[in-house]
Amino acid sequence: MRSPIPDYLAEALRSVQADHSGATADYIPELAHADPDRLAAALCTVDGHIYSAGDAAAEFSIQSISKPFVYALALADRGFDAVLEKVNVEPSGNAFNEMSVEPDTGRPLNPMINAGAIAMHSLVGPPGATPEQRVDRVADGLSAFAGRRLHVDEAVSRSEMSHAYRNRALANMLRAYDIIADDPLVAVAGYTRQCSLLVTAEDLAVMAGTLANRGVNPLTGRPVVSAAVVRQTLSVMATCGMYDGAGDWMTRVGVPAKSGVAGGLIGALPGQAGIATFSPRLDRHGNSVRGVNLFTRFTADMGMHVMEVPPHAPSVIRSRRVLGEGDREVTLVSLQGDLRFAAAERVVREFQEHPPQQHRVAISLRRVFSVDAVARRMVLEAVRRLSLDGHEVYLLDPDEVLPDPDPGTGGRVRVLTRLADLLGG
Ligand code: GLU
Repeated sequence: MRSPIPDYLAEALRSVQADHSGATADYIPELAHADPDRLAAALCTVDGHIYSAGDAAAEFSIQSISKPFVYALALADRGFDAVLEKVNVEPSGNAFNEMSVEPDTGRPLNPMINAGAIAMHSLVGPPGATPEQRVDRVADGLSAFAGRRLHVDEAVSRSEMSHAYRNRALANMLRAYDIIADDPLVAVAGYTRQCSLLVTAEDLAVMAGTLANRGVNPLTGRPVVSAAVVRQTLSVMATCGMYDGAGDWMTRVGVPAKSGVAGGLIGALPGQAGIATFSPRLDRHGNSVRGVNLFTRFTADMGMHVMEVPPHAPSVIRSRRVLGEGDREVTLVSLQGDLRFAAAERVVREFQEHPPQQHRVAISLRRVFSVDAVARRMVLEAVRRLSLDGHEVYLLDPDEVLPDPDPGTGGRVRVLTRLADLLGG
């Protein structure tokens, strides 16, 4: 069978092709000359399959889409406190190149606007890294996100540098407030090289896919940043990624995203996929016109909005039975699905409201796919309290979804792999 997904992507591209509204970024001469008709979409699943359509192998400069990834690298290299001390996480509601810093501290409002991004560039690598080492760290780090070596487009970098009056003003302001320690011009040069790294729509889909996959590159399998760093990065993308169009974007499209003035746009769908589009004509916020339309369509067609409340899952308690006879009698409570807080609460309540009459109590995890840290603690606490109430407790867990269960002081549990072991002699 031929997959319908590339056909769907191609059809989506056709539906926006006739829209010639917007304009290429004109404040960077090299971008003003870009072919405005280029159009691509790519999707990378968290298990590393890439679908694409249109000019998905055409290279263009990453521009501001570098910002969330460099933010993630800075968090990984310096830790959350050091990064938050220099750049806040509040939406500015302003344009990307606005002179917005907190009046008292000089701290840029967030890492997605240029002021914050220039500060972030200066925080990658170990303390004391040279400007060259920082540029290398950014190129290496973004290449790890993309799963292939990325290179700087020297022409774009030169072109932007020769017109970077506004970014220089921002860097001077950051230097005056001691947010950066570098010579402001050196800081802008590093940031500009970062923005000039060449990517394709497929690269961007993999980079977004790495965020969607908790920081592990779905193509290479290589961990790039931690899940905690990804959570922070996606949160900032959701609130600040689309500049002064962020609120409209979040309500309408509902995917953590980031745009770039060369026409790229990424969205990361946590746990599912990274998506990227490329079309150089921009709207007044500096976001790709056809890219925004494509994402709006993807949300509607693929149900991507992260605030969409999922329909009721079947109850976590699949069944409750009494098996065996005599002193082998056992209450067997079989669970199903993914165990997070709400499901674990339901399990705890089951034992509270209906205390087992049998001495032996077994909890079957055979149809449970995953147990998060909170659910793990709650289920083990239920096991501990059942033990303290005098029960002999078993976990039927052939796939080890709850490895090394330790119910803590006073708790005792035996792990079995087969129902027969429970009922046998
Ligand atoms: N390098 C561009 C700048 O600093 C990035 C802006 C963007 O992509 O939104 O102006």
